[in-house]
Amino acid sequence: MTQYVYFFGGGKADGNKDMKDLLGGKGAGLAEMTNAGLPVPPGFTVTTAACNLFVSRGGSLPREVDEEIEKNAGRLETLMGKRLGDGTDPLLVSVRSGAKFSMPGMMDTILNLGLNDRSVNGLKDKTGNGRFAKDSYRRFIQMYGNVVLGIDKDRFEHELSAVKKARKAKADVDLDEKALDDVIERYKGVVKKETGKPFPQDPREQLGGARDAVFRSWTNPRAVTYRKLNDIPHDLGTAVNVQSMVFGNMGDSSATGVGFTRNPSTGAKEFYGEFLQNAQGEDVVAGIRTPRPIAELQTVMPKAYAQLRDITTRLERHYKDVQDFEFTIQDNTLYMLQTRNGKRTGVAAVHIAVDLVDEGILKPAEAVGKVDPQSLDQLLHPIFDPVARGKAEIAAKGLPASPGAATGAVVFTADDAVAWSQKGKRVVLVRMETVPDDIHGMSVAQGILTATGGMTSHAAVVGRQMGKPSVVGCGALDIDAKAKSLAVAGKRLKEGDSISIDGSTGEVILKELPTSPSEVLQVVAGTLKADRSPLYKKFERLLGWADEVRRLGVRANADIPRDAKVAFAFGARGIGLCRTEHMFFAEDRLPYVVKMILSAARGQRGLDVTRRLKERIADAKGEHAAALRKELAKAQKEYGKAIADYTGALARLLPMQRADFAGLFEEMRGTPVTIRTLDPPLHEFLPKREELMVRIATLTAKGEKRNAREIKRLSSLLRGVEELHEFNPMLGHRGCRLGITYPEITRMQARAIFEAARNVSKKGIAVKPEIMIPLVGHVNELVAQKKLVLETAAEVLGKGSGVEYLVGTMIEVPRGALTADEVAKEADFFSFGTNDLTQMGFGLSRDDAGRFLTQYLEQGLLEKDPFVSLDASGVGQLVEIGVRKGRAAKPGLKIGVCGEHGGDPASIRFFHGAGLDYVSCSPYRVPIARLAAAQAQLEKPSGD
Ligand code: ADP
Ligand code: MG
Ligand code: MG
Repeated sequence: MTQYVYFFGGGKADGNKDMKDLLGGKGAGLAEMTNAGLPVPPGFTVTTAACNLFVSRGGSLPREVDEEIEKNAGRLETLMGKRLGDGTDPLLVSVRSGAKFSMPGMMDTILNLGLNDRSVNGLKDKTGNGRFAKDSYRRFIQMYGNVVLGIDKDRFEHELSAVKKARKAKADVDLDEKALDDVIERYKGVVKKETGKPFPQDPREQLGGARDAVFRSWTNPRAVTYRKLNDIPHDLGTAVNVQSMVFGNMGDSSATGVGFTRNPSTGAKEFYGEFLQNAQGEDVVAGIRTPRPIAELQTVMPKAYAQLRDITTRLERHYKDVQDFEFTIQDNTLYMLQTRNGKRTGVAAVHIAVDLVDEGILKPAEAVGKVDPQSLDQLLHPIFDPVARGKAEIAAKGLPASPGAATGAVVFTADDAVAWSQKGKRVVLVRMETVPDDIHGMSVAQGILTATGGMTSHAAVVGRQMGKPSVVGCGALDIDAKAKSLAVAGKRLKEGDSISIDGSTGEVILKELPTSPSEVLQVVAGTLKADRSPLYKKFERLLGWADEVRRLGVRANADIPRDAKVAFAFGARGIGLCRTEHMFFAEDRLPYVVKMILSAARGQRGLDVTRRLKERIADAKGEHAAALRKELAKAQKEYGKAIADYTGALARLLPMQRADFAGLFEEMRGTPVTIRTLDPPLHEFLPKREELMVRIATLTAKGEKRNAREIKRLSSLLRGVEELHEFNPMLGHRGCRLGITYPEITRMQARAIFEAARNVSKKGIAVKPEIMIPLVGHVNELVAQKKLVLETAAEVLGKGSGVEYLVGTMIEVPRGALTADEVAKEADFFSFGTNDLTQMGFGLSRDDAGRFLTQYLEQGLLEKDPFVSLDASGVGQLVEIGVRKGRAAKPGLKIGVCGEHGGDPASIRFFHGAGLDYVSCSPYRVPIARLAAAQAQLEKPSGD
């Protein structure tokens, strides 16, 4: 029989830390701590399997599960020696949600369950503290009313404020027992009015209601959004933890708090956290009262503090990771309520992983697994320009919740943040405090600034996780969200005004500041010495360990020497894709590119016609030869100018390309450099048709005679544009199809590559050019292009140049993948072009998909954007087929990937599994790819 309920208490638990799938993170942690003999209030966990049953049955549980819960409730009552709802010494419990992955603020906890009109007096008698008992009851009605019965929080807050006002009380704690009796009556009135029924008095009914609410919350829109944003599957389900209560609100010898064993923002090894005396549950994170730093607990309750330090240090060693813990002190006795691996910034993650190795807690390979590859992005975040920053006036200071520099326009709501950023503006989201409903706005903002809340408030936690610079609890801000304005330091800002925040110091500056690259970037760029950056050194060590683990090679997509240099510094060993055409856009060469394009058709034809005639003349005799010579003269006259334009432009481009390639070879120091021949449709290099028409019309209007020359030039350009027009350019005249119709272009590019290789090699620098033919769907396309490349190589290199090169192809047309066995016979290597492969495999135009793809994601038709993360089950098959057939025809065939997916951790995992040799990604993603490749190997080891 399946077990749906797991008990913990009395020194042992049914579950343990490895059962997160079933018990959720919280439940597994409570079980593990119980087993370790730590002071954990006993209770039981209803499993995620029960949640899935609940959801699939449309909101109910089978009777056996209900009975199992009832049995465990009875067991808890026996262990505690108290009964729920008892009139003399009642048992109270909390009902806490807990999925496998923690979802901050997504599902609300209910405290003090079991209180009713009778048991509240029992609690009062037992503790001799009427104020405490009544306060607990009113909190319970409020939480239950809101979370389970769905009554707006404001309805309760309104009553509480009314009573406070009537009693002239400033804070909640100033209300005495009588006042709280008044609050309770008013609250019960609210419940009656809102639901038509009295507040439920039966503790078993309360328990069932709370449990169902937790299960229901799994499918609430906030939780669904969060899961989507974080790639958490929707069928994991949440567990419910029912746990006997301990009280942090029993007076000044009681407290509640949260903390981390290390600073989650910087990674520093310091005890870190906050607490509130005489408080309960979420008071600390709710941002209602401003909590005190945990260090002060040492003076307030030295014994409990020492015990807390001791326990959490042990937990860190036990879990081999930073712990994020929650505790409550009831009358000087410490209880642990939660522990989990702490979320942290990318910067902190690197420091912590390396420190844990140095402290002997982790082995290097284990440390590699502790850092989320994506979070390395944060180390590459900009910081403020130090000079501008030094001069800037600090208007206010809040808590430095998530590091990094953010600058942009002030917006006051999440919706405005989205609207402004859709218009291409950088925004900083300014709120009193953030709530889960703000997530969409937070994710598009440069940074987040709040007026209330501590380092563990929603804005802080979520900001860190998203890697958003965040400053929280900045009390000096006077925000009027309705009027969309903000007063601070004697100034008033309205929506759209500039602001800058420094998430590393908490400082707020009322103007736009220039930002400069991160510390790591500065070392890479050579403007900061590695010795002066401890962060960079740890980053290097961590990635060095990753390199020892990983099987996949990591290359970069780089077109120009400057990018290649960055890529190499970030650890790329090779270029997986140099898009030659990117160099064509440079100002000094675009005119020749345009000339080449406009003359290509006639020029190439002229070359072909005259060459054929010359061949025939060589074989002909007498009169026949004379006739042919005449014909040749005629052809030369007809095509002469086009040929001269075409070959002339190519001749001008040759040395430029040669210099580019030489630069790449030098920067890459003997690692392979894959250069792709011309790929995009030619019209991309020409002006837009409409734009030309407008320019011609304007010039004509201004004086047709005076502008005759320019009008003529533009008109011929316009004719060229119109001739090149295609209905479906992505499936049109591009890729190897260009090189097949205009072989001179391929020849010129091949010549530039080989001449560069020869020249660099002569300097004593090793070179490994790999010439890559794009868009091959039929092996004959490759055969034709390869012939040109090999002929050119023979011409340029001759014999004994010592330059070794490969000629391979991209696999990016589905037919190319399906016939990979045929293609492989002609190819020295494959490189999957997963952008086009996705475009053609999915039949999704990359340039047009934006219009509807977001809808697909919102409606859950697709889990991820297939252009960001490879569609493993569909397009992935084309990759697998390509690999299998390619290697079957040519064992050991070198295979890589050069699409955007090469820098996406989930896709990298797939490529590792598919047996590729390397991934290639943008230079800034190289560190992420190195780490992700290592983690893929740790998860699923494979030989090389
Ligand atoms: P979250 O997932 O939002 O952190 P929790 O279930 O951890 O929610 O509950 C929030 C807080 O409620 C805890 O940190 C703790 O302070 C309080 N709490 C939960 N259960 C108990 C309990 N049994 N006794 C005392 N306080 C509790
Ligand atoms: Mg919660
Ligand atoms: Mg918690």
